[in-house]
Amino acid sequence: MVKLFATSITVVVLTFAAVKAQVPIVISNYPTINEIPPTDSPQVKAWLAEIGDLSGAPQIPLPNPTGQPPPCAKKPLANECHWTCDGCSADDITACAAPNTWGLTFDDGPSTATPTLLDYLKTQKLSASFFLIGSNVIQYPQTVVRELAEGHHLASHTWSHHALTTLTNEQIVAEMKWTEKAVMDATGLKLKYMRPPYGDINNRVRYVLKKMGYIPVDWTGDQFDTTDWKLPTITEANVISTFTKSLDTYVAGNKTQGFYCLEHDLNKLTVGVAQKLIPLGLAKGIKISSIPVCESDASPYQSGGNATMPTVPGITPTTTSATAVPSGNATAPSSTKTGNNTTVAGKTSAASYQSAGLLTAAAAALVGVVLA
Ligand SMILES: [Zn+2]
Repeated sequence: MVKLFATSITVVVLTFAAVKAQVPIVISNYPTINEIPPTDSPQVKAWLAEIGDLSGAPQIPLPNPTGQPPPCAKKPLANECHWTCDGCSADDITACAAPNTWGLTFDDGPSTATPTLLDYLKTQKLSASFFLIGSNVIQYPQTVVRELAEGHHLASHTWSHHALTTLTNEQIVAEMKWTEKAVMDATGLKLKYMRPPYGDINNRVRYVLKKMGYIPVDWTGDQFDTTDWKLPTITEANVISTFTKSLDTYVAGNKTQGFYCLEHDLNKLTVGVAQKLIPLGLAKGIKISSIPVCESDASPYQSGGNATMPTVPGITPTTTSATAVPSGNATAPSSTKTGNNTTVAGKTSAASYQSAGLLTAAAAALVGVVLA
């Protein structure tokens, strides 16, 4: 992974309150929502051909595809490195590299609750990374456009949120590439970071992800699972209490590296508790940032030109002069085929966005929106 610090940053004040999205996404042109996409479609076959041979993937047996995380083997399998079962993370990112920093991430969106969270983050001048579900992206593309316009970072959380260790290599490709296409159609950006649903990842899944240039980002252990996803089965007070203890433990440590939490913009409850957890971290002097800042990655997308880049709390989102850089140590696809079913309005080459001062207009063109 190429890591760069932006040396020349121009602060751009974003005034996107009046942005209206006109994203040319037609739901019928995508796979069925919340289902594993078929692997025999012309589009998926083309992606598989582009990615190339997957036979080098570790031969790890597939459990029954229930959609949920599989039960853990009684004895860890050799070379499986199954994170949720044995804590083995291989080269996944599990902690924010910046010291004393909370890597703010939200999974499972966009949803109808996401705009409320975006309103809050704007008031706090905070930027987050959003792990998007492709099936939700095509239902709420305007929200994805808004996330980008307001300086947040976009990443993948698969198409249908099935446990990846239960899927075939080809199904994993279909899950990732359809999500990648949906976000690319909405924003022009090719995603680079991903979070496996349920944190369910092993070496076979990692191999396939790297073939597509993806970097997995887990979270910093069970103590940083806020368990917001259990609401309302548990109470908001439970979530706050658990998280407070985790923060206290972290603050008492050396804080030489930061942490990533598991949080969700899934519904009103998870978005509501997020607005109570964030002040707890800020009150303890912990910085809050998105993945690109945590990882000092000035190229947080595989391609797509400049994106709005978050910096640190209290600073307006900025841009960098970053250009597309293939990532990962597997062969990354050179391009994403646009297929024959969706067009991208206003799609322009990255070179058009080199001027940070043109961010507002460029971002609008990039995502095919109209400034009203
Ligand atoms: Zn999830």
